[in-house]
Amino acid sequence: MNTPTAITHRTTETLRAAINGEVFVPGDLGYDQARQAWNLTADQRPSVVVFAESAGDVVHAVRFARAQGMRIAPQGTGHGSQPLESLEDVMLLRTVRMRRVGIDPAGRIARAEAGALWQDVTVPAGQHGLAALAGSSPNVGVVGYTLGGGMGWLARRYGLAANSVTAAELVTPDGHLVRADAGREPDLFWAVRGGGGSVGVVTALQMRLYPVRDLYAGALFFPIQRSAEILHAWRAWTGTVPDEVTSLGRILRLPPLPEVPEPLRGRAFALVEAAYLGDAGTGAELTQPLRQLGPELDTFATIPAPALQQLHMDPDQPVPNQGDGAFLSDVPAAAIDTVVALAGPDADTPLLSVEIRHLGGALAHPAPGGGAQPKIDAKYVIFAVGFTPTPDLAAAVRAHAQTLKDALGAWHAGYDYYNFQETPALAGAVLPPASYHRLQQIKARYDPGQAIISTHPVWPTRART
Ligand SMILES: Cc1cc2nc3c(=O)[nH]c(=O)nc-3n(C[C@H](O)[C@H](O)[C@H](O)COP(=O)(O)OP(=O)(O)OC[C@H]3O[C@@H](n4cnc5c(N)ncnc54)[C@H](O)[C@@H]3O)c2cc1C
Repeated sequence: MNTPTAITHRTTETLRAAINGEVFVPGDLGYDQARQAWNLTADQRPSVVVFAESAGDVVHAVRFARAQGMRIAPQGTGHGSQPLESLEDVMLLRTVRMRRVGIDPAGRIARAEAGALWQDVTVPAGQHGLAALAGSSPNVGVVGYTLGGGMGWLARRYGLAANSVTAAELVTPDGHLVRADAGREPDLFWAVRGGGGSVGVVTALQMRLYPVRDLYAGALFFPIQRSAEILHAWRAWTGTVPDEVTSLGRILRLPPLPEVPEPLRGRAFALVEAAYLGDAGTGAELTQPLRQLGPELDTFATIPAPALQQLHMDPDQPVPNQGDGAFLSDVPAAAIDTVVALAGPDADTPLLSVEIRHLGGALAHPAPGGGAQPKIDAKYVIFAVGFTPTPDLAAAVRAHAQTLKDALGAWHAGYDYYNFQETPALAGAVLPPASYHRLQQIKARYDPGQAIISTHPVWPTRART
């Protein structure tokens, strides 16, 4: 790739004229707002920011960047911006204005443009009694989440979101809009389903929806002092539940902010959150072993599928935060003791939330015709996150999360979860080894010059002949 020339307002005139979207370079009014990611800790300083409004805009932007010798970082919301490499001499190609979503109720298919948030899909799908494989937050981007795998409340029953993708529309690094599905561009189709966004700029994804109108879900809150008892009980309980139950055990320190409801504000809890794909009677029976421990607050009820995205209490506004996570091959009692020692009532920690999600079920079996994460060889995944308004706090959160990961090293599954690895790491650290090798070959074919920057980089290798 050529060395980029300095990009000025004047250099970008042709691009501005060609697209419906907007272009910002340093010095432009609006540049600072344009470069701001959802995660306010990320300080992105690209050479140019392009807001695309259509796939056609993306084509123009990619061709412009290549002609200028610039690399391209596609981004929707910026929830996943923390691990990104430096954006110096880079075009930040933002898709947030491309939020059109179409639902085909008869075919149980959704098509979401690259900037769609999960709530843009779950709400209209829910009107047809259908559910998408969304994650815990309504404002995370459909595309970034799905490219990295995508694990939500229906994961143990229906698997990763990536393996429910039926087609991807993307602009290749040489600036061509293509459709990748089971019959066309099979390598690209495989790569985008769990391998991250390293092979092009996705302009839309098409995905399967599932017939779930409502389900039994909620949380049981206990005082943080009971963390050991509750997490041990939850862990034992996960060994007894059917695939229709997806749950997590969590230690949560809620900040004293007005957004947090009064009974929870500024308090710390051990809790269990769960969703059961079934009726309230059976759900109540299934959760009884945990309920009989006497929670302080019990929010379980039958809820419509789109309401699942409030269950985890994720922030609805941009916040500065840092997280980190790891796949765990198992979580025996000693692992729970480790988590409680480092994050429980007696720990001096800046981590606001440490959660262990129960995997298995459909995640453990190869998805028929699946992509770069065909299955998950781990029984649990841990994720720790803290609020990081200052560099000192960011460093402290990173250090505590790393200490937690190190302490759980004996149970590490060998690689981490793509979407929960929020510190810089090669894609080889967040994918099964065989998948990473295939991805390297695909990268070598479609993007040998590393034009596309992705959350977790892929170093191209020459394909074996
Ligand atoms: C509050 C919160 C809750 C979360 N809950 C879950 C959860 O329940 N389950 C789960 O699996 N993950 C979860 N995550 C992690 C989340 O899935 C990742 O951070 C994901 O990368 C966010 O996608 P995004 O599009 O919103 O972010 P972005 O930062 O916009 O995108 C992340 C990356 O995806 C790639 N990308 C995005 N758009 C494109 C595109 N159009 N073309 C090519 N590449 C693209 C790029 O590499 C980009 O850097 C959560 C994160 C947060 C902050």
